[in-house]
Amino acid sequence: MNHENSRELYDRALSVLPGGVNSAVRAAIEPYPFFVQKGDGGHVVDADGNRYVDWVMGLGPLLLGHDLPQPVQSSIQQKASEGPMYGMPTEVEVDLAEFVVRHVPSVEKIRFVNSGTEATTSAVRLARGYTGRNKIVINQGGYHGAQESTLVEGDADNPAPSSAGVPQAFAEHTLPVPFNDQEAVTEVFEEHGDDIAAVLTEPILGNYGIVHPEDGYHDFLREITEEHGSLLIFDEVITGFRVGGLGCAQSEVGVTPDLTTFGKIVGGGFPVGAIGGRAELVEQFAPSGPVFQAGTFSGHPVTMAAGLETLQFAAENDVYGHVGDLGDRLRDGLADIVADQAPEYTVAGTDSMFKVIFTRDGEAPTNGADVKNAETDRWRRVFWGQMKDEGILLSQNQFECQFVSYGHTDEDVERTLEAYKEAL
Ligand SMILES: *Cc1c(COP(=O)(O)O)cnc(C)c1O
Repeated sequence: MNHENSRELYDRALSVLPGGVNSAVRAAIEPYPFFVQKGDGGHVVDADGNRYVDWVMGLGPLLLGHDLPQPVQSSIQQKASEGPMYGMPTEVEVDLAEFVVRHVPSVEKIRFVNSGTEATTSAVRLARGYTGRNKIVINQGGYHGAQESTLVEGDADNPAPSSAGVPQAFAEHTLPVPFNDQEAVTEVFEEHGDDIAAVLTEPILGNYGIVHPEDGYHDFLREITEEHGSLLIFDEVITGFRVGGLGCAQSEVGVTPDLTTFGKIVGGGFPVGAIGGRAELVEQFAPSGPVFQAGTFSGHPVTMAAGLETLQFAAENDVYGHVGDLGDRLRDGLADIVADQAPEYTVAGTDSMFKVIFTRDGEAPTNGADVKNAETDRWRRVFWGQMKDEGILLSQNQFECQFVSYGHTDEDVERTLEAYKEAL
């Protein structure tokens, strides 16, 4: 496989972009990432003309695959041709808001922003503003974007910035606990209950694993937050409109959070984020409330049209059936291969999310530490490259999950299982 053009592009990129990329994880591939020329259904073609079955799918946003159905495409093109944006409200923002409110159990009102990071940043500010409290409980191994309140590692007794540039004084307002650990949450509420504005959690850890919640974990979070007057925030940036269909993961988990953050799919492949929840809460945002929140590009007409038409297409066609069936076939096939060839590994995922975790003991991970203990170097440095050489593109490291799209086919699944059989 020739990668000369990617190599040259990366060489140029290194001179003008930090690390040669615009988002950190893209540089994980060694010795250099390949550059994409275009997408095609469930495939991508790189700058050297190599074609791959693409399970990265934009790292989450592309529910329909690379070829947008005709109504989605024409709506996007029409909005773009009418002038990209105005700094004034448009009808399509109301249409998409109504759609989300209609389908997601916890959402009565919603504010659209431009990224998942912006959504979680605003949700944390809203929770602090509403409760008058400072502390946020997060999960170790959870991901909420590149924001100050969640770039925090360590534990509740010793929180520390996980990035340069985050003051220790900020990190002290964040309490990281292991996922699925009810005792740890009980302890932080015993110690800090009166100062906890919110528990911010992913329904399923999607950026570190995948790790599934144990039965009752989210019910427990619902109860303990209510007991202490704290908010429960589900970060559904990755699970929203992917797990549990149009009702999102919360409809599958059966727990109603106070606030939900969205991103990825809800923008149909364009930059997006959103914060939804009970009307009384979301109205705390300016101008109806005291929590400042604003954005030049927020509710961008092209994004709103792409999101609305994508979700409407999913509502009217068998999108979730298709991706769920292929997801099941992948996970079942992978489970057989793993049982035969690498019984210490674990197949994780649900709906259209999947991942083989290189665990050392065949035990499904229950928290971030379990995933961290997996053979992450083997995954990225040995296994990933062999899959790529077989024409199968997996996410850039052990931690990011992989996605089935409406553009994938039975043949893509068969080829992928064959490649796993060779590479594992
Ligand atoms: C992707 C993601 C984010 C960050 O969204 P960006 O659009 O990349 O800023 C936040 N939370 C979760 C759960 C995500 O998967």
